[in-house]
Amino acid sequence: MPKLRRLEWGAYLEVEGIPSTEIEFLRMLAGPSLIALPGSDASRVRVVTTLLHGNEPSGLRAMHRWLRTDPRPATRVLLFVASVETALRDPIFSHRHLPGRRDFNRCFGPPASDAEGLLAQEVLAAILASRPECLVDLHNNTGHNPAYGVAVRLDDPELGLVRFFTDRVVHAPLALGTLVEATIDACPSVTIECGRSGDPVADEVARIGLEALLARDELDLRGPGRPMRILDEPIRVCVTDPTTIDFGVGAGPDVSLTISADIDRHNFERLPAGSTIGWMRAGSDWPLDARGTDGRECSREIFRVRDGILETRCDFIPIMMTTKPEIAKSDCLFYAAREGQRR
Ligand SMILES: [Zn+2]
Repeated sequence: MPKLRRLEWGAYLEVEGIPSTEIEFLRMLAGPSLIALPGSDASRVRVVTTLLHGNEPSGLRAMHRWLRTDPRPATRVLLFVASVETALRDPIFSHRHLPGRRDFNRCFGPPASDAEGLLAQEVLAAILASRPECLVDLHNNTGHNPAYGVAVRLDDPELGLVRFFTDRVVHAPLALGTLVEATIDACPSVTIECGRSGDPVADEVARIGLEALLARDELDLRGPGRPMRILDEPIRVCVTDPTTIDFGVGAGPDVSLTISADIDRHNFERLPAGSTIGWMRAGSDWPLDARGTDGRECSREIFRVRDGILETRCDFIPIMMTTKPEIAKSDCLFYAAREGQRR
């Protein structure tokens, strides 16, 4: 992984030097880049990060477009564009991380000495040294999803940050080693999942939110704003043996579990008890592992198998459901959440 580049707006970077397409812009950056811009109030800094996953371009597109407007932000701004090399690897915007390398947004936990861990430490140190007043990390996901925020800690400041982008937020106090987890003690810090990668609607969510966030002088993160739909206590649902699953419309002959191919249509909808998740091959082992923030395995409280059909045992709201086998294998199948209070 290449070394972090630091670019100062006006010195190493200016509007005339920003290419007209985001792909040319990435080629110009060439590697992980921290771009600093001056703002009207030089005493405050806002941080926006993106492309921690190379296949999630909405945040990059928003930054690229914003930079080309020769912006005058309300405060100083730090933009971090992370996995440039990964994003540029053919086919472009298709790799979450490079083969054989770690997921970069799992590298912000305890220090590690591999290339990803060292880069994460360097970026984190630079961000914390700037004493930011907020951090927003822009992502996409692979399933059919509306835009939503993800907050490790969810108080009024985090709700206020998410409101710039969407009115849905998942309160997920999970410890995965993400950038947001590593910064929540320094400032309000949230992830925005803008929607599906490649969907122009997701790009618009990122663009509108980013422009508003960086233009506004006062963030007004203390008081109530538009009501937010809060999803609480997500339970992470994984497959126990990722080598034996597939997606389809009935039990496949070569796999233990075939997951319903249109399962992601139910993201953010209430999924009633008895809903089909997939089909089991006869004699297969229990396929799921589900854990909430307490770490307790609870998959049999949420799912059951009846006549070879894997179905839900109770009502819940699925989020981040994917139909990409590689995501289900390397990350998780989805999260099961409950509707919290509106705030
Ligand atoms: Zn992501």
